[in-house]
Amino acid sequence: MMQIFMPLNFLGFVYREMKGSMANIEAMFALLRQRPSINDAAQAPTLALKDGCIEVQDLNFQYHSDRPILNNISFTVAAKQKVAIVGSSGAGKSTLLKLLFRFYDASSGRILIDGQDIKTVSQASLRGALGIVPQDTVLFNMSILENIRYGRIDASDEDIYEAIRMAHLSDFIARLPKGVDTLVGERGLKLSGGEKQRVAIARALLKKSPIMIFDEATSSLDSASERLILEAIKDIAREHTMLVIAHRLSTVVDADHILVLDQGEIVEQGNHASLLAQQGQYAHLWLMQQRERSIVPTAEE
Ligand code: ATP
Repeated sequence: MMQIFMPLNFLGFVYREMKGSMANIEAMFALLRQRPSINDAAQAPTLALKDGCIEVQDLNFQYHSDRPILNNISFTVAAKQKVAIVGSSGAGKSTLLKLLFRFYDASSGRILIDGQDIKTVSQASLRGALGIVPQDTVLFNMSILENIRYGRIDASDEDIYEAIRMAHLSDFIARLPKGVDTLVGERGLKLSGGEKQRVAIARALLKKSPIMIFDEATSSLDSASERLILEAIKDIAREHTMLVIAHRLSTVVDADHILVLDQGEIVEQGNHASLLAQQGQYAHLWLMQQRERSIVPTAEE
């Protein structure tokens, strides 16, 4: 295990970071991979979430001084809006999420959540406050119930069953030999990509954050799985502010606003219909994906 090789003081940092927020394991692995270069301001207050509005203002960022990665990015996700970011590989989508979670600080510009600059609040409160469905979900050799409870260890059974329902996992669990007590992982049931994603959705919902962030997995899904995930996202979008990093445009067609990112810049924006009418990158991507869908049958990995 990677953790064994980590210096103890760094593990202590990670533990303190995670203890307050009960952030998920994916965030913990991300932290373990990246030594923190970011410090909290002295007596940084806790992020006070209200409706869940995200404002990104004139954001610029580079990992190394000679290569800009994000250029003058500005957009707002108003409370209960669904905003999607699409764009080719390397466009800067994941980098934007890393800045939102403050794994890095922007070179200039700022990100506000409910009016608070994320640089001014404690990192633990920031990360604890945002619900995230990551690209890859880590499952443990535990029951499906405990795997979902991992989103918030002190969640009540009632909250867990509500999250299971919202993540469209109820029918899947009903078919398991021991229901929610069925073991998953190496020594138990192997979940498909789509089922794992729905476990991740249930975990994220347990945080009860007004903000949900979906970092969509690139792996292909069969159409039944895709439909279940789309339904879950649709239900959740009614009640949450949602930022989606999307690879499949089927996830974004109903978004209030779509940003097309290319080489660190927003090159097109609008809703699905207006972007199609622009006949630019988005329209091209849409056409390509429609063609692929009619030619290549998708399959669960
Ligand atoms: P994908 O869809 O493939 O995940 P993306 O749009 O999320 O791509 P990013 O991962 O944000 O793109 O990467 C944007 C650019 O930043 C890429 O050119 C990438 O090589 C570079 N990059 C990403 N992480 C680092 C890093 N830690 N150090 C230096 N450069 C990086």
